[in-house]
Amino acid sequence: MTENYHTHTARCRHATGTEEEYVLAAIDRGLKILGFSDHTPFIFPGDYYSTMRMYPDELENYVATVLALKEKYKDKIEIHLGLEVEYYPDRMGDLLKLITPYDIEYFILGQHWCGNEQGEPYNGRPPTDDNARWERYCSQVIEGMKTGLFTYVAHPDLLHFVGDKDFYRQHAKRLCEAAVTYDIPLEINILGIHSGRHYPREDFWKIVGQTGCKVVLGCDAHSPQGLADFPSEDKAMELVKRYDLNLLDHIPLLPCK
Ligand SMILES: [Zn+2]
Ligand SMILES: [Zn+2]
Repeated sequence: MTENYHTHTARCRHATGTEEEYVLAAIDRGLKILGFSDHTPFIFPGDYYSTMRMYPDELENYVATVLALKEKYKDKIEIHLGLEVEYYPDRMGDLLKLITPYDIEYFILGQHWCGNEQGEPYNGRPPTDDNARWERYCSQVIEGMKTGLFTYVAHPDLLHFVGDKDFYRQHAKRLCEAAVTYDIPLEINILGIHSGRHYPREDFWKIVGQTGCKVVLGCDAHSPQGLADFPSEDKAMELVKRYDLNLLDHIPLLPCK
């Protein structure tokens, strides 16, 4: 890997290390481009508390910290400032307003919940055999793609569906065809491989290969060490070879505003 746009910071409350440690780890392993994409803040109505993302009032410090490192290390590595964002139709307007004063360069789409999060089950676990949930997940990711706000889709195979295999493939194909239509790459998630999660899953990436979607690798680093996980990257490359995936050499950034 020479580029990674999927990197977290401790603000999400489930990542470790300082931002500078991530930058040094990226330089050390030879990345040319490091994008920070911590879990976005959202403004939720009422007193709802989302436990896995920064608060809106932490955004300013996030931006300042990353931009200071971008300047400090500009001769050693190209740093970009992004966010990992769920497509929540009712929350997007406020999010775009919230980021207006800041130089946020890109969004990656990570659909950890459907709907607008509140009152919804987490998509990553536990496993579900509910057809409606897989169909709805795919539809919401596709709606997100249509907005044109997202540089790529992180872990598109996040929803842990264990129901009917034909039904799974039918909607995976729909998602992949939309990725081709809207020209959005899909990410093989290195953290999923490292942690032995249900993704990346073989039946999904087989369809990606058949559909010809653009594919990228993303560390999804929640620690500086996550930027140099060579055994997991090797497994990702085996997946690329097995299904003849259309892996991009360079990830084009799509402006998010
Ligand atoms: Zn995370
Ligand atoms: Zn992530």
